Amino acid sequence: MSDSWELIIVGAGPGGLALAAEALHGGFPRDELLVLEKSDKTIWSIRALYPENKLTTANYKGYTADAQGLLTISDMTKAETIAFFDRLVEQYQIPIRYNEEVWSIRALAEGGYEVRTTRNLYRARLVAIAIGIFGRPNKPDYPIPTVLKSRVHFDLTTWKPEPGMEVLVVGGGDSAGEYVQYLVQDGCRVTLSYRRQQIVRMLEQNRQAVERLAAEGRIRLWLGSNITKLEPTPEGRPRVVFAEPELDSPLFDHIVYALGGTTPENFLRSAGIAFEGKVPVLDEHFETNQPGLFLVGDLCANMKGGSIIYAFNTAHTVWERIRQRYWQPVPEVSSDGMAASAGRGGRP
Ligand SMILES: Cc1cc2nc3c(=O)[nH]c(=O)nc-3n(C[C@H](O)[C@H](O)[C@H](O)COP(=O)(O)OP(=O)(O)OC[C@H]3O[C@@H](n4cnc5c(N)ncnc54)[C@H](O)[C@@H]3O)c2cc1C
Repeated sequence: MSDSWELIIVGAGPGGLALAAEALHGGFPRDELLVLEKSDKTIWSIRALYPENKLTTANYKGYTADAQGLLTISDMTKAETIAFFDRLVEQYQIPIRYNEEVWSIRALAEGGYEVRTTRNLYRARLVAIAIGIFGRPNKPDYPIPTVLKSRVHFDLTTWKPEPGMEVLVVGGGDSAGEYVQYLVQDGCRVTLSYRRQQIVRMLEQNRQAVERLAAEGRIRLWLGSNITKLEPTPEGRPRVVFAEPELDSPLFDHIVYALGGTTPENFLRSAGIAFEGKVPVLDEHFETNQPGLFLVGDLCANMKGGSIIYAFNTAHTVWERIRQRYWQPVPEVSSDGMAASAGRGGRP
C-alpha cells in the first residue's frame, strides 16, 4: 500500500525545512506535504558535525549572508542555531516523519514519483531532495585497522577531546581548519596534515588562523604530507606512516579526517537525474531533468558544499517554481458563488 502526497521533501536539514516553511507560508496545504528524515531529529548535520563551541556564521565559505526568501540567520551559537530550527518547525507545524531513510526515488510512467523508505512506500507528485552532502564523509583510500576505530573520527562529536591529547587532523578545507582551532582551544596538541604544499581551499579567516597558530608554534603544520597507512601499536594507539621519510611514523591519540563529503551520486542517478560529469544538471530553479523533481541546499552547490543561507535561498527558488508552475491556491467559492479566500491548491 502506498501513501499519496502532493509534495515530499527528503531531509529535514536547513534546506528541507526552509522549503517546507516557504510552502506552508505560501498556503500549501499542510496535509499534502510530508518531510522524511532519516535521523530521529531535525538538522542532523548541524547537531552531529558542528563542534559544541562553534559559532554558526551567516557568511560561510564565501557565500554572502544575502537572504532572498522567507528565512535568514545572523551569527549565533550552536545551541541558538538548534533553537532557531526547533522554533521554525514549531511555528509552521512542519509535518516530519523521523527515522525514515529514503532509499530510492523512481519516476512513474503515469507522472509523479514513488518514494521508498526504510518503512514505507509513498507516491508524490512533486519531490524535493534535500539530503545534503555530509551523510557520507569521504574516507581515506587506505584501510583503517578495526582496533583503531575508536581513535579515528570523521567529525568531533563521537569523542571528547581532552587537554594534552596528541591529535592529527587530516585535510585542507574549512572543516579541517575549524577542527584545528577548536582542538587547540580544548588544549590538545594538534598536527594538521595536508597533501598539498599550500592551503588553498580554506576561507581566508580560517587559513590565517591556522597559519598564525603554526607560526606561534601552537600547532604542527605538515603541508605536502601524504599518509600511506595506519598501524596500531600494542597499546592501541595509531602510528601514522607517511610517504615522506622525514615524517618518522609519529604516534597520535586520535586522528580526525576532514576530507569533505560526496554528493550521493548513485542515489540521484538512480532517480533518473542527469549528470554532467560529477554534477547534477539543474535549471535556474534547481529542477532536475525530471519534471517536478528538485534538489535543495548543499546538493545544488556542486561539489563544494553550501551554507545555511544558501540552503534557504535554494528552497525559496524551488518554492517559486512550484508556486508558478505546479501549484496555485484555488480560491474557495462561497455560498453565493463568489471567490472567498485562498483554499486548497491545485494545478494552475
Ligand atoms: C563543521 C561544519 C561547519 C559549518 N559551519 C557553517 C556555518 O558557520 N555557517 C553556515 O552557513 N554553514 C555552515 N556549514 C554548512 C551548513 O551546515 C550546510 O551548508 C547546511 O547544513 C546544508 O543544509 P542541507 O539541508 O542542504 O543539508 P544537511 O544540513 O546536510 O541536511 C540534510 C538532512 O537530510 C537527512 N538525510 C540524509 N540522507 C537522507 C535520506 N536518504 N533520507 C532521509 N533523510 C536524509 C540528514 O539526516 C539531514 O538531517 C558548516 C558545515 C560543517 C560540516
